[in-house]
Amino acid sequence: MSLSKVKHIVLVLSGKGGVGKSSVTTQLALSLSLAGHSVGVLDVDLTGPSIPRMFAIEDAKVTQAPGGWLPITVHEADASAGIGSLRVMSLGFLLPRRGDAVVWRGPKKTAMVRQFLNDVFWEETDYLLIDTPPGTSDEHISLAETLLQKARPDQLAGAVVVTTPQAVATADVRKELNFCAKTGIRVLGVVENMCGFVCPNCSECTNIFMSGGGEVMANDFGVLFLGRVPIDPQFLVLIETGKRPRYPKGTSVNGQDISTPANAAHEDHEPRDSALLVRKYQDCSLAPIFAKITTDVISAVRQANVG
Ligand code: ADP
Repeated sequence: MSLSKVKHIVLVLSGKGGVGKSSVTTQLALSLSLAGHSVGVLDVDLTGPSIPRMFAIEDAKVTQAPGGWLPITVHEADASAGIGSLRVMSLGFLLPRRGDAVVWRGPKKTAMVRQFLNDVFWEETDYLLIDTPPGTSDEHISLAETLLQKARPDQLAGAVVVTTPQAVATADVRKELNFCAKTGIRVLGVVENMCGFVCPNCSECTNIFMSGGGEVMANDFGVLFLGRVPIDPQFLVLIETGKRPRYPKGTSVNGQDISTPANAAHEDHEPRDSALLVRKYQDCSLAPIFAKITTDVISAVRQANVG
């Protein structure tokens, strides 16, 4: 079956929409690839698939092989640079108007999710990240059931739960953690996204909302806290325009100086940098934060397999 060459499956979950689940999936994928792993991303967020936009592959054509689909290659592995391959399959590719939310009824959605898990041909893949719809809906339960049935126990590593400082204050993320407990899906850790703001003008990272709630909640549930991720407008610029992130002198995020070296400043005038997304992402303030999160996710996956 299509998942047979996948080593580890990681679900990315959030209690509600708009907390940055797809952005976290994207950055986990880029960071895992930068760490030399082969990565697949499967987007089953029927509420509005945004993964194709994240990887700038909205116009990609999906090829159908006998009995299934071939994922889109974002980049091939580059052994000399220590970069692993990255392939993506999204439900968005199959919608007549890309980016539309699916309005099908429950059973059809469920069948589609099942088909997606069965009928996409993944080559040798170290990590398959699954971007799921927000919430604890029918799709989730169906996805969880299908995975529990189809995946080998050593394949289904667990879930990364994404939240924001505001969402922590609501019951959504707690519901998500309870959902994991009920369906028997291990929680690999919690990421608190949109914690602070990397100001493009004054080089400061400001906390807008109270931060730290995600960590307290993770401790309450006895799960790993993976880290805080600020809002970085340069990440959005990278995704929306393909421009390489640039920061004024003295910009510091989580105690690390990430200002752009003076000798790279002339590139500011280039409208679009044709380098691979994974290369440009290395210049983003969020890259070192995700490198650390990724290392922790990899150790959590290893521990899960041992335990
Ligand atoms: P979800 O998948 O939870 O609905 P998205 O990942 O699509 O949320 O995020 C919603 C919007 O916020 C997107 O435009 C995304 O690029 C942006 N975003 C999310 N996290 C960040 C961040 N840390 N910095 C900058 N923009 C972000």
